[in-house]
Amino acid sequence: MDYVNKIAAMQHAREAAKASKEPGAKRLTPIEKLALKPKSKAYAIKAMCFQCMGAEPGWRKLVDECSSTACALYALRPCRQPET
Ligand code: SF4
Repeated sequence: MDYVNKIAAMQHAREAAKASKEPGAKRLTPIEKLALKPKSKAYAIKAMCFQCMGAEPGWRKLVDECSSTACALYALRPCRQPET
């Protein structure tokens, strides 16, 4: 990706992020966020867990409760509550 395309992609991502914060705006799914920023490791992991848990509302709680310790993403999964 050349310099001009990088700047255009960043502007597009900023506009999408700004639009998603306006009242009544549709919240982007992790997969949509990843499409805006395809090199983000954090978005890639979040999109994988989102998809793994059915890509439906309530996915964050399911990821928090994930018990698949054999999964390569287990230690990196998002939405974890701090252990007490
Ligand atoms: S950590 Fe859990 S939710 Fe995330 S991809 Fe692995 S099995 Fe799925």
